[in-house]
Amino acid sequence: MKIFVLNAGSSSHKSCLFDLDKDNSEVPNPLWRAALDWTHQQGQVELSASGAGESIQQVLPITDKAEGLEAMVNTLVDGPTQVLDSLSDIDAVGHRVVHGGRDYIDSVPIDEAVKAAIQRLIPLAPAHNPANLQGIEALEGILGDVPQVAVFDTAFHARMPEAAATYPGPHAWVEQGIRRYGFHGISHQYVAQRAADMMGRDLADLKILTCHLGNGCSLAAVKDGLSIDTTMGFTPLDGLMMGSRSGSVDPGILIYLMRQEGYTADQLDQLLNKESGLKGLSGIGNDLRSVVEAMEGGNAQAQLAFDTFIHRLRRKMGGMIASLGGLDAVVFTAGIGENSPLVWQQACEGFEFLGLRLKADLSRAEEDQDIAREESRVRSLVIHTQEEWAIAQACLALLNDRGC
Ligand code: AMP
Repeated sequence: MKIFVLNAGSSSHKSCLFDLDKDNSEVPNPLWRAALDWTHQQGQVELSASGAGESIQQVLPITDKAEGLEAMVNTLVDGPTQVLDSLSDIDAVGHRVVHGGRDYIDSVPIDEAVKAAIQRLIPLAPAHNPANLQGIEALEGILGDVPQVAVFDTAFHARMPEAAATYPGPHAWVEQGIRRYGFHGISHQYVAQRAADMMGRDLADLKILTCHLGNGCSLAAVKDGLSIDTTMGFTPLDGLMMGSRSGSVDPGILIYLMRQEGYTADQLDQLLNKESGLKGLSGIGNDLRSVVEAMEGGNAQAQLAFDTFIHRLRRKMGGMIASLGGLDAVVFTAGIGENSPLVWQQACEGFEFLGLRLKADLSRAEEDQDIAREESRVRSLVIHTQEEWAIAQACLALLNDRGC
């Protein structure tokens, strides 16, 4: 079955085409992979695609997202990266949808009601849900009535215990749906399962702390195969310090800024989502690599940003371990988690008292790896997240269940 996966963001679109059988235990290479980068230059989009052993990179004078998607999809059937005779060879489309709210706690076939729900949830994920909906509608226009499936980033956390999901505001918040939803669920679920496979254990028997550390950062406590606690909350702004997001801060700071400095909601949104975190504190940027480079060159602000990132990471890791009531493995994934031995070392240093001991010489690798010493009582795994493949798998499972 040929499954097309779209991960639509506000500034990029990432796509893969998988050819999946009913039983895929190993992650297969996609037949085709493509991306649109809308940050390239005003009035232009950068299209890259690879398939059939070839790759292309083009800058196109396109600003309309649907038009960009059409150009990207056409590289499946035209030019050096062609892997299909016709777009009608696509059997299904899987979409990453960031917020599914309380109504959608599993993947669902997309219909008008699902689209209306994604639209309704825009205030809870204003940076993501509009792009997800736009991607769905654009592909309906391009591919016609091929089955489309929504795979929600909130779903893996939807069965969290009520005490972990509840914010201690007035009780009215419970009815209003103001609660912890959690995000990055597709990634947390994939890496937890992969960790169990690497350990040769059943996921249901393990207590795993998964650390998704990319531009957005979150942790999940995975027990009995379910997420029982996580650091992102009602929105993806809660929890860890991130690339340009603050993560949790004292809400009193916001009241202070509104009262004393007349900040509006939009200004606070910009400040906390775009001008905080590694970028805001270091004054350098949201990329950990440049912050570390400046820190190693003696930049004090960069040092403070890095130290705060690590302090808050360890502190939240400790919280997740307390929720788990034990620990079999810590997993690192996403841009920082897959690539930064410095972060692995500094994050794990706080947990040597639990018997977590990392190897002495660590370096990043293309393969997933166990970075803990043999005698370590807790495993520590670096796993490359495979969100697109996980979306394709969820899509396949849903269609098989429905006998499609
Ligand atoms: P993601 O959101 O998962 O694509 O992660 C993007 C982030 O990963 C970047 O902004 C960097 O902070 C970080 N990153 C990527 N490569 C490296 C690396 N080699 N070392 C440290 N951080 C990295």
